[in-house]
Amino acid sequence: MTNLVLPTYQDVELAAKRIENYANKTPVMTSHTANDMLGAELFFKCENYQRMGAFKFRGAMNALSQFTPEQKAAGVITFSSGNHAQGIALAAKLLNIPATIAMPLDAPVVKVAATKGYGANVVYFDRYKDDREQFCQELVNKHGYTLIPPYDHPQIIAGQGTAAKELFEEVGELDALFVCLGGGGLLSGSALAARALSPNCKIYGVEPEAGNDGQQSFRTGKIVHIDTPKTIADGAQTSHLGHYTFEIIRNNVDDILTVTDNELIDCMKFYAERMKMIVEPTGCLSFAAVKAMKAQLQGKRIGIIISGGNVDITRFAEFLA
Ligand SMILES: *Cc1c(COP(=O)(O)O)cnc(C)c1O
Repeated sequence: MTNLVLPTYQDVELAAKRIENYANKTPVMTSHTANDMLGAELFFKCENYQRMGAFKFRGAMNALSQFTPEQKAAGVITFSSGNHAQGIALAAKLLNIPATIAMPLDAPVVKVAATKGYGANVVYFDRYKDDREQFCQELVNKHGYTLIPPYDHPQIIAGQGTAAKELFEEVGELDALFVCLGGGGLLSGSALAARALSPNCKIYGVEPEAGNDGQQSFRTGKIVHIDTPKTIADGAQTSHLGHYTFEIIRNNVDDILTVTDNELIDCMKFYAERMKMIVEPTGCLSFAAVKAMKAQLQGKRIGIIISGGNVDITRFAEFLA
């Protein structure tokens, strides 16, 4: 993969225009308690308040709103059991595009229900027997669907970058930006926005320690694949970065950091108790890394992207207990 045409900040600007009538302009929150605790000035971009509860709606809306009439008529397909499925399902519903979501047979009932609730058609594959991409490809061949993957796609990346764009436009330049990292759509889009709007801002991706494929890839200079990691950060259980996302990340990101599940739980408690917010485990990655880097961040202006808030409420209560 040498001739990738990478998205640019201009694509992020175009994405922002395409989605502005559909996506929420999410709030930027501050907390005196957090500032005092860290000795820094923190700005939390709250994508847990995005439509369907996570930033994924941005990329999905940007991609689907560029479909041709033929693509719209045939429909969209994707594979995911998480927030991308719901983002695609909601965007498709708003644009009157039929959506098919391929989910593993053992996907959580709540996620299947949420996806069906947006009107999408759910088809099941066996995650131990079927290759999910091949499974989708067969349906693409048969029905003419357009496949929109969760992160490795220029229009997805550009859409995800609109959250950081809004953050910089609201609070001005920052010294550092911390972004949750799975397959890298959010991080690479954020990096495009940061480079354009706050050129001296350091950019950090944050992964669960158990799934540090992004950190390994960043440090070795090639995409490292790992087995599906065991972590409570289910939005970051990806086994490898994408070709587009890796290229943007290696060129623009300053470092990739990791945090443990216990550090995520501490942040979840902080968000609930001090800021009155429900944040899903994956959404806690960015703040957890800021807390761990405290000594180097004294007096700095820090952006923290909270990526989403979709967590089963019973599970959430168990984390807090
Ligand atoms: C998808 C997701 C991520 C990871 O995003 P990538 O673009 O795959 O890096 C992080 N947090 C939440 C809540 C997500 O849904």
